[in-house]
Amino acid sequence: MKNISLLGSTGSIGRNVLEVVRQFPGRFRIVGLAAGTNGRLLREQIEAFNPEMVSIGNTKLAGELAQSLPSGWSEKIRTGVEGNVAVATLPGADTVVSAIVGAAGLTPTLAAIEAGKNIALANKETLVMAGHLVMAAIKRYKVTLLPIDSEHSAIAQALEAGNQADVSKLILTASGGPFRNLAERDLWAVTPEQALAHPNWEMGKKISIDSATLMNKGLEVIEARWLFDIEIENIEVLIHPQSIVHSMVEYVDGSVVAQLGVPDMRIPIAYALSYPERLRMNLPRLNLASASDLSFSRPDFEKFPALKLAYQVCKRGGSLPAVLNGANEVAVDAFLAGTIRFPEIALVVAETVSRLPREEGASLTAILDADLAARMQAASIIEALRMQTQQRLGKDVLSPELPPGHIPLTI
Ligand code: MG
Repeated sequence: MKNISLLGSTGSIGRNVLEVVRQFPGRFRIVGLAAGTNGRLLREQIEAFNPEMVSIGNTKLAGELAQSLPSGWSEKIRTGVEGNVAVATLPGADTVVSAIVGAAGLTPTLAAIEAGKNIALANKETLVMAGHLVMAAIKRYKVTLLPIDSEHSAIAQALEAGNQADVSKLILTASGGPFRNLAERDLWAVTPEQALAHPNWEMGKKISIDSATLMNKGLEVIEARWLFDIEIENIEVLIHPQSIVHSMVEYVDGSVVAQLGVPDMRIPIAYALSYPERLRMNLPRLNLASASDLSFSRPDFEKFPALKLAYQVCKRGGSLPAVLNGANEVAVDAFLAGTIRFPEIALVVAETVSRLPREEGASLTAILDADLAARMQAASIIEALRMQTQQRLGKDVLSPELPPGHIPLTI
């Protein structure tokens, strides 16, 4: 029996994790659940899985949750960052599924590692921000880290076919997102609704926008660099719109090993939870005979500069990946709120990266400081952009031309 604490239980990955757990009651038990703001769904999950402890975003939500549960439950409810850490370090848990969205996942994931828990990682931002610290902690505390991200799960599976020393490169596939075929000029007019409509995967809002900008692939390149201890030059991205080949490993003899499957997150979740065994999943099977052609092409770094920026930031390292990530989170929120336009997400991130210093070998405190500084810097850049756009209202708001005095993208 594997005892699981699930961080981010009400999000897209969290709900899929619970579906897998529900199908295998003899193998998995949920001991802790941590959610953000969806108290109603958390209450349903508590009733279904009866955990020892839960956490929710703030004390107001905790009060409402306690009222809706039988008496005695209030002592088992924690809140905020401390609550996430308490659930992540529950003595009864042996595995922690880290599926909180964004930078908020870093602190509880590190706490779980230091408490000796094995990690199933969906929160890629943890490795983007602090890959060096996380991987060092994984070694020091002798725990395992298995990726839930579908590309990294594919690579982990393909790496079983050979020795690390014989790997020549990793090939991450990307669907290309909903705007793969849109002209660069038309990207200025896309709405959050269009950007949220991913062609192949059902996902949360933040990752859907990241997929549309290709920042998600950029974050995944950085994630792979740490997870598989490989130079960034040996990580390649290929656009593969069908999302059937989830990623590949090329070996020194020229063999390429790929993992294929239907695009369903329950497959990589089940692999991460049951490794090295495999679970008999009741899912539609991949039918290659009826699948459309599988196609592959190089990404367009000019149209999707976020991917290029992520490569450059990964190469420079230090605290900059945390800056990239923090600025991106703020820019994605601003785009979803209608404050900035789609191409301005990458502009805001690039400008933030260019304005902030790079710190070498950053400690956790320095990384969290860099994250905060990036958020403040990005917010001020967004405000400047918003004022510029507002001044142009009634003229040509969705013009592809940058407004005069607009921040140039220097990457
Ligand atoms: Mg992925």
